[in-house]
Amino acid sequence: MKITILGTESLGVRGLACFVELKDRKIFIDPGIALGWIRYGFLPHPFQVAVGSGIRERIIEKLHYATDVVISHFDGDHCPLFDANPYQLALDEIRMSLMNTRIWAKGPENSSQSQRERRKAFSEMLKKDLPVPDGMKDGVLEFSVPVPHGRRGAEKGAVMMTCIEEDGEIFVHASDIQLLDIETIRIIADWKPDMVFASGPPLYRYSSSEDRIFAGDAWNNALELSNSVSTLVIDHHLLRGEIGRDWIEKLRHTSGNNIICAADFMNREPLLLEAWRKDLYDWLPVPENWHDDYKHGKADFENYRIKGWECLLNNGKIKPCKWYHSCPVKHYTDKGKLERYWIENYCLVGNKNCVRYNLEEKGEYHPDYMLPDGEIKKNL
Ligand code: SF4
Repeated sequence: MKITILGTESLGVRGLACFVELKDRKIFIDPGIALGWIRYGFLPHPFQVAVGSGIRERIIEKLHYATDVVISHFDGDHCPLFDANPYQLALDEIRMSLMNTRIWAKGPENSSQSQRERRKAFSEMLKKDLPVPDGMKDGVLEFSVPVPHGRRGAEKGAVMMTCIEEDGEIFVHASDIQLLDIETIRIIADWKPDMVFASGPPLYRYSSSEDRIFAGDAWNNALELSNSVSTLVIDHHLLRGEIGRDWIEKLRHTSGNNIICAADFMNREPLLLEAWRKDLYDWLPVPENWHDDYKHGKADFENYRIKGWECLLNNGKIKPCKWYHSCPVKHYTDKGKLERYWIENYCLVGNKNCVRYNLEEKGEYHPDYMLPDGEIKKNL
């Protein structure tokens, strides 16, 4: 089983997009993306828009190969939308890829009016009836009954969790549970997973004494869950503020268990762009009309994309690969011979999955024209 986390807060966007490759099936869970409409009084910074656009492209690319698509619930950061804003994933863009896949979309029970409307529009645009998978099993896939979107009884609707098992390895995608409901935690534990990918509590919004109780509940529930799994990946709501990083760190230290965020799982530095939005506006001011112009195709983000990475580097927000300044991949990129994709997804975020990096660590020869994924590109 190969699990790739494509889009979530520690990778720079809102969501819990995840691609699971099995022997015979390729399962995309929650192919959605959002940037958070307003934070600290600001719309998404163009640098966030640039990073989000790259992630959206990778979601579209992976969907092309998916045999199954799971939608845990119909919020805009978890599913493609018929009325997407410029920073989300529009259903129109991926309709063809979804035509021949099996769709497992949470049923309308315990959903808000807008979630039900999105589900209906989704079905109409694809011209497919959507079965209700909640509580069902289909071979390697099993879906939970609807569980609370956060606290039980909080009227925030419900979400569907997914369990995938192959060759004795078990993975659970626990969407927006926020670790706030002990009954939900027990459903996960009963699956006996090796790895869980879950949303954590929205600590960035917590301020009252009641909120402190919720934070305590999430902490205790995370501790209990981490005792029964090999890897607990917590992200999404929790990583909308830097406080979430510290929370994970303390939880790992207290429990002695393997509790990490999605960026850690993907072997790279976290990119908490929503948490850093105000800093981005301070470093790189944005004209008042930029978002409107972008929406109408009259502005782009290229300049912000290059300068944004420089700002993160210069202000110590990211730690690049130790070979960055001497690496031929940077040299070829500076000369305009390579797309920026490689430095932005490997070098600048210290991605330890880089094939070059690993060969360098072992002291093994590799040619200058080898790309971070190991491809040999002789015409550089
Ligand atoms: S290509 Fe690999 S080794 Fe070179 S700087 Fe980038 S991450 Fe490091």
